Amino acid sequence: MTYTDTRNPSVKTDFASAVTLGMNAATGGLYIPCSYPRLPDSLLSGASVPPFFDVALETAKLYAGDEIPPRNLKAIIADAYPFDAPLVRLADETSVLELFHGPTCAFKDFGARFMARVMSYFNRNADRRLHILVATSGDTGSAVGSAFYQVPGLDVTILYPAGKISPLQEKQLSTFDGNIRALKVSGTFDDCQKLVKTAFTDDALRAALRLSSANSINISRLLPQSFYYIHSSLALRAALAEEDRVDDVVIMVVPSGNFGNLTSGLIAREMGAPIDGFVAATNANKTVPDWLASGNYEPRPSVPTLSNAMDVGAPSNYERIAAMYSLEQARRLCAACWLDDAGTLEAIRECGERSGYLLDPHGAVAWQAWSDLRPQAGSDARVRRGTITNIPEWHDKLAGRKANGVILETAHPAKFSETVQKACGRNAPLPERLAKVLALPERATQMPNDYAQFREWLRDNLD
Ligand SMILES: *Cc1c(COP(=O)(O)O)cnc(C)c1O
Repeated sequence: MTYTDTRNPSVKTDFASAVTLGMNAATGGLYIPCSYPRLPDSLLSGASVPPFFDVALETAKLYAGDEIPPRNLKAIIADAYPFDAPLVRLADETSVLELFHGPTCAFKDFGARFMARVMSYFNRNADRRLHILVATSGDTGSAVGSAFYQVPGLDVTILYPAGKISPLQEKQLSTFDGNIRALKVSGTFDDCQKLVKTAFTDDALRAALRLSSANSINISRLLPQSFYYIHSSLALRAALAEEDRVDDVVIMVVPSGNFGNLTSGLIAREMGAPIDGFVAATNANKTVPDWLASGNYEPRPSVPTLSNAMDVGAPSNYERIAAMYSLEQARRLCAACWLDDAGTLEAIRECGERSGYLLDPHGAVAWQAWSDLRPQAGSDARVRRGTITNIPEWHDKLAGRKANGVILETAHPAKFSETVQKACGRNAPLPERLAKVLALPERATQMPNDYAQFREWLRDNLD
């Protein structure tokens, strides 16, 4: 597979370079595949729903081409995904796709674990270790730390702002040993990011240490997220066929911040996954819903909300969506909705009451968007809480009850127990893997917000 970049289509590069470089420093653009190959018919129209592993392997083969031999790709996928993504039917027209069964209980495990193993593969013949530096405001640090833990040839240094992340988040990123280190910086997230950026532009340091980043714009985090869209849409189609509902449409409802998850869904659809449309669901950071309504893309500073992993005012993957589709095409595919914090609490409460299912605040934003888009008549009448900014043609199918929404549940509700408790007076039990982390000793090193001292620490502790 050949990759190009969002800003200059004459750029051509291979998978290894796209993964290793992360973005194209010369243009500032993001890597995207030059084309979206069609999935094999054996997957799309086989007699039974293929296992998640088969979907992941066949899809990954198309993007890795001959750069990773099938035997190695198999090992990468088996090691990355000892868990899967179950689809839970809540009601006739609504399902939840649970993406929190990985080690950190959030969907970022799918992207980060694949990225770590692919980077390790491409680094296999290097004679020096590759050092990943990552600044985090909470969730990315734990997903990246966990994904790279004990992966050969690589290590990770996580910088996080002291006192500015939740106690659970802090435990999740500061309790590793071995190749993952955490620095607790006396400063803000922006200070952490500045320390990392300064290190990347420090030529003397880079001559001594091989440095890299693992941020969310890396194409190797995006492609594996298409696995669960493909797998779940095939599973839902098979269930609908059994119910004589082959003409129904399948709509993916995606709680979005940086829009990496939604972009992965668009890629899955381009490859032939049986998906008819999407709902771009955001919190008050509604840059993309506003773009679909007005046609003007206006990035802005982010505002804090209860679904804080989606607090993004300038979503980086907008650039990929705009490279894939015209505004009109995007409008035909994606409905758009946004919801405030009061609505998010109400959504957690109402979904719990209606179906007994406990959502986290991110999934709740998506659930409410789906509820708002559905007809509000008769005994099924519901309170509309969010704002709809774009309605595609497929919306007609909702009136005839021939549309099936798949709510992507991106985190386990126990990670946001305070909000969930406030919304509905009960809590999700803490999964064992989170309870275990809470019991581990914190190993973070204190770090002043000072580049000279950070640099000295890197030189003393990394090789
Ligand atoms: C990162 C994150 C999101 C947003 O995903 P994007 O790919 O940035 O749109 C949603 N929910 C949770 C729990 C997340 O951690």
